[in-house]
Amino acid sequence: MTDRIRDFLRARRDLGRDEGPVMVLDLEVVRDNYAAFARALPDTRVFYAVKANPAPEVLGLLASLGSCFDTASVVEIQLALAAGATADRISFGNTIKKERCIVRALELGVRLFAVDCQAEVEKIARAAETAGVAPEDVQVFCRILCDGAGAEWPLSRKFGCVPEMAVDVLEHAHRQGLRAYGVSFHVGSQQGNTEAWDGALAASAMIFRECAERGIALSMVNLGGGFPTKYLKEVPGVESYGNAIFRALTKHFGNHMPETIIEPGRGMVGNAGIIEAEVVLVSKKSDAADEVRWVYLDIGKFGGLAETMDESIRYAIRTDHDEDRKVPCVLAGPTCDSADVLYEKTPYPLPVSLSIGDKVLIEGAGAYTTTYAAVAFNGFPPLQSYVI
Ligand SMILES: *Cc1c(COP(=O)(O)O)cnc(C)c1O
Repeated sequence: MTDRIRDFLRARRDLGRDEGPVMVLDLEVVRDNYAAFARALPDTRVFYAVKANPAPEVLGLLASLGSCFDTASVVEIQLALAAGATADRISFGNTIKKERCIVRALELGVRLFAVDCQAEVEKIARAAETAGVAPEDVQVFCRILCDGAGAEWPLSRKFGCVPEMAVDVLEHAHRQGLRAYGVSFHVGSQQGNTEAWDGALAASAMIFRECAERGIALSMVNLGGGFPTKYLKEVPGVESYGNAIFRALTKHFGNHMPETIIEPGRGMVGNAGIIEAEVVLVSKKSDAADEVRWVYLDIGKFGGLAETMDESIRYAIRTDHDEDRKVPCVLAGPTCDSADVLYEKTPYPLPVSLSIGDKVLIEGAGAYTTTYAAVAFNGFPPLQSYVI
C-alpha cells in the first residue's frame, strides 16, 4: 500500500466517512507501471485494456503519457476519446460486435478492429460502406486461440480461431478490400509463465508466411495482455516478460520483425488499487473445537470481488492483527446468495483476533473490481472508488 492511499484512508476515517467498502487507486503507481511497460518492451505500442479499470482519471493519465487504448464497446471508445486519446490510438478489440457499433466506431474515427471469423469480417466491410469509409483504410487483425496454460484467469475458447483458419479469415478481409493487418492473441490473464507467448508467436509467424504466399503482407502482432499483478504469490517482473517475448519474436520472425503492440490491463492498474472493507460477522457452524471460522466481509463476489470465482484470484488481505496467530477461515461476502463465498475450498488464514467491525485491506484490487460490482444486488450499492 502506498503512503498516499494510507493517508487518504486515514483522513476518510477521521471524517467519519468510512461507510461501506471503498477502492482507492493511486495514479502514481499507474504512472510507474506505464513506464515499466515502455522500458521492458521499447519498440511496442501500449494499448491499455480499458475494461480493467475505465476510471476517467486513469484513462486521462495514460492518454497524457502517450498510451493507446484497447476497447470492447462504443462506450469505452467514447471514454478513451473523452480522456484525450485520438481515434488513431484506439482499437476495437472485441471480436463480438454489433454491426451498428462498428459503424459508430468508424464514425468516431476508429480504424483498427479485431475479428476471429469471416462473418465478423463481413460486418466490418458492410459497416465501412455504411459509414462511407474506404475499406483499405480499415485495419483488421485476426485473433487466434491460445490455451491459456499458466494463467490464473484463462480466457477459454470464447475468442479466437485456430491459426490455420486465421489465414483464411485474413484472406477474406483482403478480398473484401479491407487491410489485413495482423494477428492477435491473449495468453490468459494473470499469466505466471514468461514463456507463454512462444507458442502463439510460432503460430503467428506461420500465419505471416502463409499470408505472404497468398500475396498478403501482414504487419502487426498484437501480443495481448496477461501481464500479472502481485496478489499473494510473487510474480516475475515485467522486464522478464519483455525479454522472453523479445527472444520468442526473434526466434520465430528472425530478421522480419513485425510491428508489435501489447494490451495490458491487470498489469497496468492491479497493484495501484486497494479495497478497504469491514468485517461484518465472525461465526462458526457448530461448537466443535475444530470447526472452521466463517468471516463475512461487507464486500463479496457481487460487490467487486468477482474474480474470486472458482477461487481463481487469491487476493492478499491485510488486517491490523497480522502479528497474531492465524487460523484457516472461510471468507464470504454479505449478500443472501450462497454463491457469495470467496474462499472455501482453500480456506484463508486470518488472525484469530480478527473481529466484528475490524477493517481489512484487500491489495492488488485496482483491476477488474469497480466495474465488476453489481448495481444494487440485495440493496448493496456498487463499490465506491476514489482515484488519487
Ligand atoms: C481483457 C483483455 C486484455 C487485458 O488483459 P489483462 O490480462 O488484464 O492484461 C487485453 N486484450 C484483450 C483483447 C482483452 O480482452
